[in-house]
Amino acid sequence: MPAARVLIDGPSELVFDYAIPDDLPVVAGCRVRVPLRNRSSAGTVLKVVKAEDLGFALRPLDALTDPEPLITENLLKAGRWIADYYGCSIESVVRALLPEAVRTEENSAKKRKTVVLEGTPDEETLTQLSKRAPKQSTIIALLTHSPDHKLPLAELGSGAAGSVKSLASKGLVKIIDEEVRRDPEADGIDEILPDAPLTLNDEQEVALDAILKSINKPHESARPPILLHGVTGSGKTEVYLQAAAKTLELGKTVLVLVPEISLTPQTVRRFRARFAHVQEQVAVLHSNLSQGERFDEWHRIRKGKARIVIGARSAVFAPLPELGLIIVDEEHENTYKQDQVPRYHGRDVAVLRASLEGATIVLGSATPSLESFQNALDKKYELLRLTKRADAHSLPLIRVVDMRNEGRKTKANDTFLSERLRISIERKLAGDEQVILFLNRRGFARSLQCPSCGYVCECPHCAVALTYHRSDDRLLCHICGHQAIVPRKCPECRDNGIFLQGFGTQKVEDVLKKVFPTARIARIDADAMRKKNALRDLLNAFQARKIDILIGTQMIAKGLHFPNVTLVGILNADIGLHVPDFRAGERVFQLLTQVAGRAGRGELEGEVIVQTFTPHSPSIQFARHHDFDGFAEQELEMRRNFHFPPFTRCAVLTSRSTHERLAEFTLETLHRRLKEDLPKTILLGDPLPSPLVRSHGQFRFQLMLRSGSARTLARHVHEALAKTPLPDDVTVVFDMDAWNFT
Ligand code: ADP
Ligand code: ZN
Repeated sequence: MPAARVLIDGPSELVFDYAIPDDLPVVAGCRVRVPLRNRSSAGTVLKVVKAEDLGFALRPLDALTDPEPLITENLLKAGRWIADYYGCSIESVVRALLPEAVRTEENSAKKRKTVVLEGTPDEETLTQLSKRAPKQSTIIALLTHSPDHKLPLAELGSGAAGSVKSLASKGLVKIIDEEVRRDPEADGIDEILPDAPLTLNDEQEVALDAILKSINKPHESARPPILLHGVTGSGKTEVYLQAAAKTLELGKTVLVLVPEISLTPQTVRRFRARFAHVQEQVAVLHSNLSQGERFDEWHRIRKGKARIVIGARSAVFAPLPELGLIIVDEEHENTYKQDQVPRYHGRDVAVLRASLEGATIVLGSATPSLESFQNALDKKYELLRLTKRADAHSLPLIRVVDMRNEGRKTKANDTFLSERLRISIERKLAGDEQVILFLNRRGFARSLQCPSCGYVCECPHCAVALTYHRSDDRLLCHICGHQAIVPRKCPECRDNGIFLQGFGTQKVEDVLKKVFPTARIARIDADAMRKKNALRDLLNAFQARKIDILIGTQMIAKGLHFPNVTLVGILNADIGLHVPDFRAGERVFQLLTQVAGRAGRGELEGEVIVQTFTPHSPSIQFARHHDFDGFAEQELEMRRNFHFPPFTRCAVLTSRSTHERLAEFTLETLHRRLKEDLPKTILLGDPLPSPLVRSHGQFRFQLMLRSGSARTLARHVHEALAKTPLPDDVTVVFDMDAWNFT
């Protein structure tokens, strides 16, 4: 007899088997009600199994709550893969597949009483009514003139219920319970004007053709993922839009993933504008949805009413039926990696999902991740390129300013503003053009750099910056554990000033206000943007040219398009270079290219000024020459030599505890276990304090593992974990394909 293995809703991840009553069509992914102790609970069927002979009968499940499984077969398959690959429980994945908001019954569809006109009343009745029952007459008139001849009872005014009842008894109207969609866009944030497709240029045409060719393949054929490498402003979005339109025409659905909804308002707006004529088919999943809205959007998608879904990472699980096309915009962004269980990478899950669903997937970026680019070089992905800006403007001119020479020229309070940048800003302000100043916050002040020659203390074995640990005043490599004493003089130029660097956006704003007293200056960073809609309002003000200089952090690097911005200044290009992360160089290259891409997007030529203490660093030089291929070639060689991804899979084990010794001891024990019959294919690092040793009141230690095979790696780690009892107060986290090493 078959039984259903059911994951009970709630925090404790309980799984029990229940007998399936004869007549119930229960399959994996269904929602059910089951008896648990003496209560009835809701749950999700993980799979249908053969009931084991336990010597007693299984309790039968009570009911099937939805006629169809809420989790489709393909999504369940993807879920199993995620659990396996990232080494987490299937329960945690099911929670991601079927978010709380979607399953709680309190959120279920909202109904409202609606009055519907029954046919058209004849003249005679109408005259009668207007004489004897003017209220009823008015209601009929209102209904006659409303779309679909119906209106919510509540909108007919207080006291209408009686009149409606009389009308119903005469058979003139009927009252129904209508499901209403809680429309997240209902308060009409901005009016979206429809727009029409543009005529593609040759490169866009070639790219679109290739994508359509993949979409049009017979369902069962293999569809290699497509990597669309297009320089900033090359019109990738237009290609997405036209590919999406064609997919909808074929009766299939489209999923668009963006790094973060709130930081990509212009991309979202362009999709909404292009598909304004089928507005109700567009669903935008963002984190500000109420539980009710989320419920309604999810079910609209599941039922195939929303045919194009735009969302961030978790939207990769949107239950679209007949998926034809997945677009992952800015595929290189690290926001696609989730930093809580399940620690999946949204782009990688998207690639998997596309193959399960027989859908085409397009990964787009001006700076593809080296993982994706290597896949293209290996011919696993199809590479398409847009090399020119779509509007025929040239890419901005990038100048590099060597800050090592600036110290002598500038006054003490504005050391971050080079003379060259100051003069350029003055010029732009005089010409009524706009300026974006970018401040890199990553890796804030933890590496040592010499201000006069730019020397940075690096690990001789791993070529990453050493991290300064204040507690014991030493430098440490977070990959191999190499230690060094802190030099009192710069080893390179013997300058005395080697120091920790860093300043914040607030400071920049204060100084700029002094230097440019008449300019209108605003700042975008996580602090300033806490208030709801603050970001949107500020971007609108900038668009309307009510702001001259916009200062921002990583938040302004993505996808913004402001034609009047002719100068982008990058205040501290170095900072991100010197973090203990093998992707540091790649991130700086991406960031510089993306930020530079905000300049010169209109009629006026753009200029970018990059301030740095290490002007010859390859990331900066390749970005300056808009040379992605050159960068990739040299960076990939480094990765290959040092056995870093994409040539290995890299995972991090972190132990956390409020007791420092306990966290350290646990990881050391685990390390010993891992060393016992270590497969040859695994490179095992040493347990080390995390670059940020203390965070949220907990001490953290970590060790890195690398291997050609993720599976071998995960298996080995889990065997070691199973053999190592954890003390109370210690948590151990396993992060496959880790992206964050702090
Ligand atoms: P990307 O997404 O590659 O950064 P966008 O799609 O934002 O580039 O395009 C940059 C600008 O070029 C936009 O203003 C867009 O409207 C315009 N554009 C795109 N394709 C074309 C085209 N074929 N003809 C004219 N303008 C275009
Ligand atoms: Zn090292």
